[in-house]
Amino acid sequence: MSGEARPATSDRDRSWTVLELLRWTTDYFKRAGIESARLDAELLLAHALESPRLRLYVDYEKPVLPDERDRFRQLVRSRAVDRVPVSILLGEREFWSLSFKVTRDVLTPRPDTETLVEAALSKLKGPGFGPADPGRRVRILDLGTGSGAIALALASELPDADLTASDLSQAALQIAAENADRLQQKERVRFLHGDLFEPVAGERFDLVVSNPPYVARRDEGKLPPELAHEPEMALFAGEDGLDVIRRLVAGAGAHLSPGGWLFVELSPEQAVTVEQQLTSAGFVDVERRFDLARRPRVVGGRWPGTGSG
Ligand code: GLN
Repeated sequence: MSGEARPATSDRDRSWTVLELLRWTTDYFKRAGIESARLDAELLLAHALESPRLRLYVDYEKPVLPDERDRFRQLVRSRAVDRVPVSILLGEREFWSLSFKVTRDVLTPRPDTETLVEAALSKLKGPGFGPADPGRRVRILDLGTGSGAIALALASELPDADLTASDLSQAALQIAAENADRLQQKERVRFLHGDLFEPVAGERFDLVVSNPPYVARRDEGKLPPELAHEPEMALFAGEDGLDVIRRLVAGAGAHLSPGGWLFVELSPEQAVTVEQQLTSAGFVDVERRFDLARRPRVVGGRWPGTGSG
């Protein structure tokens, strides 16, 4: 309202409606090469207005107040000029229909990773899976948990499982713990600090899952600029991107119960190589799972034996 009281001396000072701002920003984002231009504009405007995104459609003709517009303008600049991902600007991202806090200290959970959660659940809820001793709870390990997305998605689906999640980054573990709290799953997940299996020496699990760093250094030049705002250690894993997966596959057998499963997210072109690594390491029933774009995104295998423990 105060916008209307001021003289419209310039474009900058005149009053803008929700719809006008959305149109202008979508166009600006498109010209800046941002793919999800309209969605990003909506998410950022809703954030600046502190209202749910769908509310924007009802408020199309409403003028945006100067304070709100200033907030929005800053967000738009960060998105278009600095290429900060929307998840970081908003401080949260939805994954598995749960809302996760996200900062620069963690990899933003991506839809592709839901493939990993689905793969894990298909085994856990499938026939014949589980501890030989029916009285024992199923034990799950999430390596390199980051925001905690995978472990907490599984915790939300599996009230009877014990979850352990590890990360090399203390800062990430802090966020993961906050997310556990936020999702009321604090008692469900044991968070441990350390490199891969190091913090779980001597322990075995029925299921090990991981979305490790797997981006190849040699691809660095062709990556979207947004990745610069996420932790390097969560993304890159040597020249071919396989440095961490190699160690993970090699170490997994010692931490799986007989009949237990390992599932790892990867880049589609790594699938064949990692399937071979799994077979060489002694895994059986090696399989792959596909992401929404139908590319191989997850491979897994079963550690020989029955009854998983
Ligand atoms: N899928 C991510 C990307 O390409 C990479 C995630 C990862 O390295 N675990 O942006």
